[in-house]
Amino acid sequence: MSKYIIGIDVGGTNVKLGLVNGKGDIIGRLSFSTKNVAATPEKLTAAICEAAGAILRKDRIPKDMISGVGVGLPGLVDVKNGIVRVLPNIPGWKDVLLRKAMEKKLGLAVRLENDVNMIALGEWQYGAGKGLTDAMFVTLGTGVGAGLILNGAIYRGPGFAAGEIGHIPLNEGGPVCGCGGWGCFERYVGNQELRQIAAKMFNEPDIALEEIYNKAVEGKKKALKFWDMIGERVGNGLVGPVNLLNPQAIVVGGGVARSFAFLEPAIVRTLRRRSMRTQGEMVRVIKAQLDDDAGIIGARVLLHT
Ligand SMILES: [Zn+2]
Repeated sequence: MSKYIIGIDVGGTNVKLGLVNGKGDIIGRLSFSTKNVAATPEKLTAAICEAAGAILRKDRIPKDMISGVGVGLPGLVDVKNGIVRVLPNIPGWKDVLLRKAMEKKLGLAVRLENDVNMIALGEWQYGAGKGLTDAMFVTLGTGVGAGLILNGAIYRGPGFAAGEIGHIPLNEGGPVCGCGGWGCFERYVGNQELRQIAAKMFNEPDIALEEIYNKAVEGKKKALKFWDMIGERVGNGLVGPVNLLNPQAIVVGGGVARSFAFLEPAIVRTLRRRSMRTQGEMVRVIKAQLDDDAGIIGARVLLHT
């Protein structure tokens, strides 16, 4: 009998849990707001463990049918030792021995992973990246990150910090970035910047990106132009990593990927024009398939590879 796993996606806003079967399908879900329990790491850990127990009770799955629990976290995670080094958007998390604490509370095997890597693992095995050996899984949202699959395995780097595509500087100068650097890719294509560009272009200070997506669907020229320009920016930022890593594909996910159809032509055009020939001709640009579920499903890959 194939065992289930529990996948947990810890975000700054919500914590989402899913019961995942052997085929990578989510057969049970539960979520709660991070804010109410984020005061201390102990409180959040307790809430996560409680929810893990609740999802089993809710779906009447005995604990011996669970082969493990995979947790994706928005920050730097020592995957080998099960330690959360730091979570930039959730206060108090510094060198927390989360794996040990959760294993003790749950009596189940626990593995931790960075959230973007978890998404990459899910898309790689169960989504848009099936069959690939070398790919970059890029998330475009408030932050810009990437999970790297190289030579058929996830590449984390010796400090578990690889994949920070959003913090590749594109300029010698440029706007200051939260990472401590400046002129970073994220400062040109992160949501905050996109909203600023949109506000100017449409002369509406609070215009939502979703609205520009809707306008593009309706074929409005200015909206199409907006996404084309953003696609060109995204393409520009991807040229360096593509030249460096020669991936078979870039899988694009995250909130902004909703507008993938309008971004893609400009991304591809820019990559073909600016990348070195071999890398630029080979690389495909694909839309992520699993949306918000990628991180939960990725837990299955983390636990079984
Ligand atoms: Zn940066």
